[in-house]
Amino acid sequence: MKILKAKSAGFCFGVKRAYELAREAQGENVQTLGELIHNPEVLEELQTKGIKAVSAISELEDGVVIIRAHGISNRKRSELEKKNLAIVDASCPFVKRIHSEVEKFTAAGIPVIIVGINNHPEMQAVVEDFPQAIVVNDVEDSRLQNFSQKKVALLSQTTETEENFQAVAAKLREFSAEVEMVKTICNATTERQNAAVELAKEVEVMLVIGGKNSNNTRKLFQLVSEITRSYWIENSTELKTEWFAGVEKVGITAGASTPEAAIERVVKELEGLS
Ligand code: SF4
Repeated sequence: MKILKAKSAGFCFGVKRAYELAREAQGENVQTLGELIHNPEVLEELQTKGIKAVSAISELEDGVVIIRAHGISNRKRSELEKKNLAIVDASCPFVKRIHSEVEKFTAAGIPVIIVGINNHPEMQAVVEDFPQAIVVNDVEDSRLQNFSQKKVALLSQTTETEENFQAVAAKLREFSAEVEMVKTICNATTERQNAAVELAKEVEVMLVIGGKNSNNTRKLFQLVSEITRSYWIENSTELKTEWFAGVEKVGITAGASTPEAAIERVVKELEGLS
């Protein structure tokens, strides 16, 4: 069986940076506000290094806090600054850009719509600072019709698909006077998605590796599932021999929160089946 890996897969720039900053963080009580990375293996590794995830600011003890790549609202940042904490900011610059774009349009009185997932931490942080901004999942959201004859700004969550972003833009144009599109989809996401789609066309089975609560991994799985038989696994122990019966080519992709070591373990396991 031939094992092919997508040209772009696994840790992205922002997640890699957050992971490295966490490993380098010095001091007592190193904590991350929320899970640093949506990957159980990585979280376990960090825990063995004494880095624990805390879900609320009120639970933080004096020491070091790491802001994860998803970013944080200004409101929460000020709360952190009032505490006896050293702050390590691992917010991804691409996520920060969404905040500054929303700020710019809001100051100019232009309504902002963001294509994304409302309860995703990246979007929650934006909406906490700019409650007027609306997060829509797709074209089915009836609130898109509320912008009849108005100029609107359309942005996206960094992990959104280009296809969904364009579809929402087309729907908005049916009602709005002008749609100013700002492409805030991260290149790493687009590259990973394109590479996964290309590979899925070549193989009989696709494996998508990543945490079950990772949004960008879910998107990858959705995209490749439409093309070929696909399985979403968190690690190599979930592989099932029967998935590969009679299969000549298997493709592998992985979400932005999946470390290279986890991908390699899956490759090794598959080699054992060949
Ligand atoms: S996917 Fe893109 S925006 Fe998100 S953390 Fe990675 S590099 Fe940053």
